[in-house]
Amino acid sequence: MPTCPFCNESNPSNVGVCKKCHATIPQEESPHGDLSEFDQEILGLTKGGKKIAAIMRYREKTGAGLKEAKDAVESLEERYGVQSKGAGCASVLLLAAILPLVWRLFA
Ligand SMILES: [Zn+2]
Repeated sequence: MPTCPFCNESNPSNVGVCKKCHATIPQEESPHGDLSEFDQEILGLTKGGKKIAAIMRYREKTGAGLKEAKDAVESLEERYGVQSKGAGCASVLLLAAILPLVWRLFA
């Protein structure tokens, strides 16, 4: 039951707007409830230590740039507390691999 932060009216779940004062109500966050199938797929890959694959998958699906995709995957990881395995070496290698591409994109 989200309570309106403005008038303290109790509102039914999943209403975006307070029934009393019509203010926008922040939705209660459930840690995995708002995960789309695609987010779960990405998280599954990063959990398995396949972060690069996750980034590639993200790009393939969204058409995002490399940096954008990497940021999105990392923010997903952060939000859901995923520790990517072997982040040390792998991320250095990944950076070494993608930096020239990123520079080309933004230069
Ligand atoms: Zn209200």
